[in-house]
Amino acid sequence: MHQLLLNQLQQHLDRGPVPAAEWQPLLDDLDRRNRQADSNQRLLRGVLDAVPELISIKSAAGVYIGCNKAFERHMGVSESELIGKTDHDISDAAVANAVQANDEEARYAGAGEQHCSEVWGADAQGSPQCVETLRTPYFGANGEQLGLVAVGRDVTERKLSSQTAQRDANFDTFTELPNRRYFIERLSHELKLAQRAKLPLALLSIGLDRFRDVGETLGSAAADVLLAQLARRVLDVVRETDMAARLGPEEFAVVIPGLREVPDIERIAQNIIRRLAEPFIVGGAAVQISASVGIALSLAGLEEPVALIHNANQAMFFAKSSGRDRFCHFTFALQEAAIRRSRLKRDLRRAVDVRQFEVYYQPIIDLRTGLINRAEALLRWNHDGRGQIMPIEFIPLAEDNGAIIDIGDWVFREVAQQVRQLRQAGHPDFRVSINTSTTQLRSSNTTPADWLDVLGKLGLPSDSIMLELTEAVWLKSSEYAGPKLKGFREAGFQMAIDNFSMTDASLETLRRFDIDHLKIGYALVSALVLDASDKALCQAIIAKAHKLDLKVVAEGVETEGQRALLAEAGCDFAQGFLFSRPLPIAALSRLLRERG
Ligand code: C2E
Ligand code: MG
Repeated sequence: MHQLLLNQLQQHLDRGPVPAAEWQPLLDDLDRRNRQADSNQRLLRGVLDAVPELISIKSAAGVYIGCNKAFERHMGVSESELIGKTDHDISDAAVANAVQANDEEARYAGAGEQHCSEVWGADAQGSPQCVETLRTPYFGANGEQLGLVAVGRDVTERKLSSQTAQRDANFDTFTELPNRRYFIERLSHELKLAQRAKLPLALLSIGLDRFRDVGETLGSAAADVLLAQLARRVLDVVRETDMAARLGPEEFAVVIPGLREVPDIERIAQNIIRRLAEPFIVGGAAVQISASVGIALSLAGLEEPVALIHNANQAMFFAKSSGRDRFCHFTFALQEAAIRRSRLKRDLRRAVDVRQFEVYYQPIIDLRTGLINRAEALLRWNHDGRGQIMPIEFIPLAEDNGAIIDIGDWVFREVAQQVRQLRQAGHPDFRVSINTSTTQLRSSNTTPADWLDVLGKLGLPSDSIMLELTEAVWLKSSEYAGPKLKGFREAGFQMAIDNFSMTDASLETLRRFDIDHLKIGYALVSALVLDASDKALCQAIIAKAHKLDLKVVAEGVETEGQRALLAEAGCDFAQGFLFSRPLPIAALSRLLRERG
């Protein structure tokens, strides 16, 4: 515009001297145009400063030639300070390099094209900040590129919240390990790599033993702290390239890619078990848990991720059921056993209704008199397809799926009926002890009042039934089953500690409970004749129990030698194959009749 005016002026000058009258309109025009340009400039500046976006203009050489107020505020520099500077003068090297690389790309964009980028840096307080920038080249009258106009936006919040959403969707909150969904995604990727590299891959499934007990005793907050510590220990043991994840409340997994010998993988499994068995300190208290590990191998990466996880799980469950605190490999025999177990579990649900259970009774002998006026009720399952199944196989399954609550209730009612029959048949003091599991104690469906009611209707006193609970249940009872146990006790049921095998120190702990019988486990009794120290231990336990006013029952007595030793040590009762195997009720009645 000014150029045009100057050209006109030049033409006038070229024509020779110009009269003042002719000058004036030209000067007025110049003045008007100047004011117009000035007001345009101010309008443009006003618009630029009004937008919240960070606007900056750079020359073709990457030198700042202007910016708006938002940019000034964001960068903490004024426009006058900025002009003439490059990015290296105003940002740290990493950010400046990233910005310059983006500028470079934008310069190759054609007329009318825009280039978009995101750069992470830090704000004036040093907090991470992400700016999204749209760059547009601007051009001169002859089409030459003069520089870039950049319009930026702070997108930190949006970015962080999408990162958080992604983390929440893929990672476990307590352990920060990948969750099941993300693990399956990564495992499937690892399997593809293994397939391509023709290398085997191992999957370890880690199941925590007794973790639920920790939650129950210490509370869920402490359990969460424990989980985080636990995850760290697992990560300590594995390499960075091995991926660990949390697959369920008590279940972790590790993928070990790359060529390894089976013993190497077993060593890793063993290390995990060892590390997790070391005490944890949670809220100032030492907590001990243990882990069972299942190993599944993929030799050619051909398995489906979910199938491989399933196999490792099966192996882990097998490790758990064969004593915990150990590892186990997946095999097809194991899979068959698992299928059998899950069928049994399903069948268990209707076994009570179709009357497939039968209570057997193992006589308990009074060692002083040789008389039988007690028995232990031992459950048998007469399965229609599989014949008789022993409790060792089905009780843990029934505890697992909760069927034990109905089964236990059925056992109690059945036993009560049969005790009444025996009492009516000439054995007026006959008593039976029944095994009671923790799941039953936890359940609100099993109550002292209900059972008392059953006995009342049959005209039986409550001390005609004794409840056997394992030592572990008693030791933990104060936490969750204490009030229930007390209720049974107050209702007049007799109480026994089943399978006692510990030292007399734990007997001391058990002293605070009002218990009638102590049953010495098969493990201790069977070692009696062989080992002098076991004999001494056994004698000490009996003497101590008597001091605490407990009667002692020895279980699993198989030989005359064991009987003699137990009698000599003052043991009150005994049961075992030496006297009788567990018998159906008819056979027990017969035996009692014969022995008078
Ligand atoms: P337990 O209470 O320790 O029962 C004793 C087990 O030792 C019984 O096994 C019995 O048959 C066996 N036994 C008896 N005498 C001898 C012997 O001289 N030598 C040897 N080697 N073993 C002997 P069973 O009947 O297989 O029961 C196993 C476990 O299943 C029981 O152990 C008990 O914990 C559980 N159980 C049985 N019935 C029930 C029930 O109705 N409810 C619950 N919750 N658990 C039950
Ligand atoms: Mg028992």
